[in-house]
Amino acid sequence: MSDEGRLVAGRYRVQRRIGSGAMGVVWECIDERLHRTVAVKQLLLQPGLDPGEAEEARQRAMREGRIAARLQHQHAISVYDVAEDEGQPVLVMEYLPSTSLAAMMNEHGPLPPREVARIGAQVAAALGAAHSAGVVHRDIKPGNILLGDNGTVKITDFGISRAQGDVQVTKTGMLAGTPAYLSPDVAMGYEPTGASDVFSLGATLYAAIEGRPPFGLNENTLALLHADGAELDALSSLADGLRRDAVGDDVTFVVTRNINFTNVCYTGCRFCAFAQRRSDADAYTLSLSQVGERVDQAWEAGATEVCMQGGIHPDMPGTAYFDLAEEVKRRQPDMHLHSYSPMEVVNGASRTNLSIRDWLTRARESGVDSLPGTAAEILDDDVRWVLTKGKLPTSSWIEVISTAHELGIPTTSTMMYGHVDTPAHWVQHIKLIASLQRKALDNTGKPGFTEFVLLPFIHQNSPIYLAGLARAGTTPRENRAVHAMARILLHGLIDNIQCSWVKLGVDGCRDVLNGGVNDLGGTLMEETISRMAGADNGSYKTISDLEDI
Ligand code: SF4
Repeated sequence: MSDEGRLVAGRYRVQRRIGSGAMGVVWECIDERLHRTVAVKQLLLQPGLDPGEAEEARQRAMREGRIAARLQHQHAISVYDVAEDEGQPVLVMEYLPSTSLAAMMNEHGPLPPREVARIGAQVAAALGAAHSAGVVHRDIKPGNILLGDNGTVKITDFGISRAQGDVQVTKTGMLAGTPAYLSPDVAMGYEPTGASDVFSLGATLYAAIEGRPPFGLNENTLALLHADGAELDALSSLADGLRRDAVGDDVTFVVTRNINFTNVCYTGCRFCAFAQRRSDADAYTLSLSQVGERVDQAWEAGATEVCMQGGIHPDMPGTAYFDLAEEVKRRQPDMHLHSYSPMEVVNGASRTNLSIRDWLTRARESGVDSLPGTAAEILDDDVRWVLTKGKLPTSSWIEVISTAHELGIPTTSTMMYGHVDTPAHWVQHIKLIASLQRKALDNTGKPGFTEFVLLPFIHQNSPIYLAGLARAGTTPRENRAVHAMARILLHGLIDNIQCSWVKLGVDGCRDVLNGGVNDLGGTLMEETISRMAGADNGSYKTISDLEDI
């Protein structure tokens, strides 16, 4: 039914509908008393509210509308009146012939940086005035920025969205709507502040230039990482179903031995409790024959795989990696050699003056069968700078991994989370892994990643935690949510989602095996890196230990 001609709140005659959405409907109206054009927004209450909640929401909308009416700024849409129409609150606002930034981006794609800077400056001026007046916008996003036909930029929807809009906390405490522009604290359910408005403005301007928000557009992904209680159970159950579809009910693991051939390393990653200086009492470097003996022992104990990685020893030539691989295969030709992190590959290539491609080709000729996708941590350079002082930029990790995939060398993929990162980084990281897998499939017709391994940060002995810069690891709730989200986001791309028993322990593994995980990694024998960081779940599990889990 058309609204045209209807009289709203006994005074505003509807000319046409100019917008609608989850929050309500906006009309262009004539104010019959003052004979001017206005925009009138009717706020729709969410379905399912009981009478008490509906009244509370209505009162909140009225109150926030009155607060917004206090703000007069040339770059903010003015609120003239808060009225009631058939028991529902309506906002009467300045009418600006305009296009929203969202519509402009939809039509024209990314905008020139200079134009975005002009828009940003005007919005920032209005936000500054609002914050000075004690008003927090709460929902800065492209849809709430109007680009006037006369060149003026104005923000709209002050203070209403949290009460009525598409980013609303439901009865169960779970966020609904797109979180693409939310600051991490608001996504977690904390009260919006001026700072969170500024974050959202930054995300909006980023999207205007790049064509997509910083953490993608996938609805609810970030919010789901904050799921708890019944929502978390539902998320785990969804992931469990996808796991069953993808790989069935068998939990897999390999009988493997970790060989960390040296712990001498001067790279200085701030999360690492494994690295030692040459002169430290605990420093060690295994000889070729010691490595070979460990390979023989592993084979005799039934291992089918050796995972070999080490510190970046300053005296080790780049060809030493080839010698080690040859020694493994000389001892046990049928042992699968899973070796050398992207950090070691970059180190080896730079010390031999070989390209990444040539070095990897030599490594494969020497016996390397697959690469661990470690040293990924979080694939975001800001986070990496804090964690590792930029030891291996995201682009270098991607270069090594993509080159390996192009050469037909499979790799794993990992994410170490729960230190200085946020759930938004986890989403971004997993999506990047997904895009690299798609690229491998497109380029070679084969998956490049064999599995995605989630590694919760072990904080106890980690220098960055001891310095007070990182949080104290992850919670069981977070572990369940992120393992489930990994299964969901990688569905159809990576079948094996692996948890780390070294880091999660037996109970933690059981939790996530019921929520998307199908792979327990390996028996390990002598895992030292997590143990040095403070993990107390042991360094070896027998086959029957893993079967018990
Ligand atoms: S994480 Fe690896 S590269 Fe970084 S300090 Fe530790 S051993 Fe060295």
